[in-house]
Amino acid sequence: MTTTSFKTTRSEEIFAAAQKLMPGGVSSPVRAFKSVGGQPIVFDRVKGAYIWDVDDNQYIDYVGTWGPAICGHAHPEVIAALHETLEKGTSFGAPSAQENVLAEMVIEAVPSIEMVRFVNSGTEACMAVLRLMRAFTGRDKIIKFEGCYHGHADMFLVKAGSGVATLGLPDSPGVPKSATASTLTAPYNDLEAVKQLFADNPDEIAGVILEPVVGNSGFIIPDAGFLEGLRLLTQENGALLVFDEVMTGFRIAYGGAQEKFGVTPDLTTLGKVIGGGLPVGAYGGRKDIMSMVAPAGPMYQAGTLSGNPLAMTAGIKTLELLQKPGTYEHLDRITKKLIEGLLQIATQTGHAVTGGSLSAMFGMFFTGEEVHNYDDAKKSDLAKFGRFHRGMLERGVYLAPSQFEAGFTSLAHTDEDIDRTLAVAKEVLSGL
Ligand SMILES: *Cc1c(COP(=O)(O)O)cnc(C)c1O
Repeated sequence: MTTTSFKTTRSEEIFAAAQKLMPGGVSSPVRAFKSVGGQPIVFDRVKGAYIWDVDDNQYIDYVGTWGPAICGHAHPEVIAALHETLEKGTSFGAPSAQENVLAEMVIEAVPSIEMVRFVNSGTEACMAVLRLMRAFTGRDKIIKFEGCYHGHADMFLVKAGSGVATLGLPDSPGVPKSATASTLTAPYNDLEAVKQLFADNPDEIAGVILEPVVGNSGFIIPDAGFLEGLRLLTQENGALLVFDEVMTGFRIAYGGAQEKFGVTPDLTTLGKVIGGGLPVGAYGGRKDIMSMVAPAGPMYQAGTLSGNPLAMTAGIKTLELLQKPGTYEHLDRITKKLIEGLLQIATQTGHAVTGGSLSAMFGMFFTGEEVHNYDDAKKSDLAKFGRFHRGMLERGVYLAPSQFEAGFTSLAHTDEDIDRTLAVAKEVLSGL
């Protein structure tokens, strides 16, 4: 695991070819490593807490395919269940019993969800929930927060964090002004700004959508009283509160951030973990609101592959594994051990850092100041993060290739994995 033995010849060949075939050589922008420099590695296979690239280098993985792999990659029970389901076909385009099973599990787990609709991605879930907010309230305007990401739909591509931030695009060309004209933004953790927006737009705001714990401007937790304050403000103004728990759902607690913080929104979006590594998203919430969704009600939303048995099976199996006693205690403990170790080593080696974790989600910024919002996050030393990322990669630790992404652990990560990661971090941070 030394840098001298680090060879990525095959990755480089494949990525060079990919760049001629697909924009930037990737199917999703952050994978191209633009913000950390250097070439991305091309994966061959994943198992448990590990990745192997096409040159057969092994890495400890802290991305977990951006969240879904919370039980560890290619968990044998998930794979076995998928094999069995596969024999019966991949998609029905018709009702299946598996949808009921996953729906019941989601409804039981997530405090706000009384009814749920399955879709194929987090983006899709957020697009649909926005339409539902507007349909239910008869109002057009919404409030989102700077640095929060709710998928790539036009209406949300305003100050949208990670991918967009990483590329330095404040907005995206191709998004018409009319699409974002009703999207109001406020700094995260700033209740006064939200209050002002409600005051300036009386009876016009359909609702507030946010990441209850931010993962898309790096890892940022809500200040004490922020979520409660939003709950109160939305109620006072006849607006809906929507938690985008695509990342935090089943990750920072089985019932997501709403369980952890005891604040119940009206609607919730889910994705990532509930698909167990297959493409799934979902939105759900109060029965009276969800009853507006077609065919129960007039708000149209549909999907050819939605609720397909393969995706439902991976989700069901993953949630079953998460229900076992001790899972969140393990996630909590190893993630704390990792981040506390990283912060300590960074400080000892003379770097100003700040960071933290909540269950299986963590983050560290290269700034000595506290980070409460996206503007604070941007004070991080991005060049240093890039060198840190590369150093870790070359020594067998795969971190998210952007300062503005959260890190993820899984049930497969062991104390030995954390110890090895910290030893590698010590070597890298000493040399920065
Ligand atoms: C990943 C993510 C999305 C988008 O989900 P996709 O499945 O990538 O479309 C939306 N919201 C949040 C909070 C996310 O982390």
